[in-house]
Amino acid sequence: MNRADAARLREELERRGYRATREPDEARLLILNTCVVRQNAEDKVIGRLNSLKPLKRDGQERALLVMGCFVGSAEEGQSGRGLASLHQEYPFVDAFFPPSDIAGVLEYVERWDRERGDGLRCGEPLTAPEVSEGVPISYGCDHHCTYCIVALRRGSQRSRPVADIVRDVQDLVARGAKEIVLLGQNVDAYGSDLPPDAAGRRPNLSAVLRAIHGIEGLWRIRFLTSHPRDMTQEIIDTVAALPKVCECWELPVQAGDDVVLRRMGRGYTVAHFRDLVQRIRQATPDCALNTDVIVGFPGETEEQFERTLALVRELRFDMVHVAAYSPRPGTPAARLEDDVPAAEKDRRRVLIEEVQTEIAAEINARLLGRQVEVLVDGQQGGRWRGRTRTNKLVFFAAPGDWLGRLAHVRITWAGPWSMRGEPAGGDPED
Ligand code: SF4
Repeated sequence: MNRADAARLREELERRGYRATREPDEARLLILNTCVVRQNAEDKVIGRLNSLKPLKRDGQERALLVMGCFVGSAEEGQSGRGLASLHQEYPFVDAFFPPSDIAGVLEYVERWDRERGDGLRCGEPLTAPEVSEGVPISYGCDHHCTYCIVALRRGSQRSRPVADIVRDVQDLVARGAKEIVLLGQNVDAYGSDLPPDAAGRRPNLSAVLRAIHGIEGLWRIRFLTSHPRDMTQEIIDTVAALPKVCECWELPVQAGDDVVLRRMGRGYTVAHFRDLVQRIRQATPDCALNTDVIVGFPGETEEQFERTLALVRELRFDMVHVAAYSPRPGTPAARLEDDVPAAEKDRRRVLIEEVQTEIAAEINARLLGRQVEVLVDGQQGGRWRGRTRTNKLVFFAAPGDWLGRLAHVRITWAGPWSMRGEPAGGDPED
């Protein structure tokens, strides 16, 4: 989400004639977009902010702006630190903006530039989009997972109108993007906050998928992240029915024990999750299913952890992002005793990672000798790099320019995290 916000902000600034630089000391405007999902991310933000501080004192007139979860949402109330205290702590920062407040940053930049009158605009052409681009469809989240700072910092859910999303996708595709990833904290709840139409119906994720599916030049569509409580049969059926929508599901389970799930405030049971997985696999049999797991949540016993491990073994996910719980001040879980020792959290994390590595290797090994369709998004180590519809990383060597093209690749080597292959043919443009 943050990368998509940064890309949108860059694009809007470029449209207004500004040019980006990767060298902070060359920049007159420094814009730091921030994530604080975990404590170490917040520590990095603070480190980066302090490293930019000398640039405010080097004689060059600059503005330093900070956007994102570090700042928090306007409705955060007493759970956040508040703008006044941010200004007090970081007096060298010129302005703070909540997550995704692109309009606010643009307004500030235009005013700042106008007041100085020395014109920072150079009118160079827009940077081409990436092969795969993210488009936010909603901001914020209405769930209250007890460990989550994101919902507090990003505020309650605000869905974008379908027409705005379609316009963004059309624009990115017209400028060269081939794949669009629809983004939201909880895309399955998209539209629940929008006004109903005359028939009393609200747009939902399926409506967005259908609305962008017909856009010419768009080859692939993905979406993330889903919430097991809000995923409907309609969404599953829509993914199965629309050929451009990739059969790759991001469905965070977080724990394999009902008591832990309840204490996390997730709002579903393991049985519900299992049933959902079964229906997803029934509708999209060749799909990939990725999940997130948190280990060492306050009070998590050895038996409860073992249930999570058993669920990982049973459901055979393609990928498991596993995190050791760390308390985030201001969340309800931070009031619970963080009673699983750090070494034990680490042991649990490593155990899940080991089991998952084996499963991922077995799943990928099934592709050996088979041909897969790869959307090429770059080069790495002298090879072309791309992803299958199921989002698996594939490398291959081939002459010519494959960037942004669809390659048919026969898999010759498969590891748990990536595969290698040789080109077996074409591209729709050939
Ligand atoms: S669904 Fe839960 S974990 Fe995800 S953003 Fe919302 S509150 Fe946070």
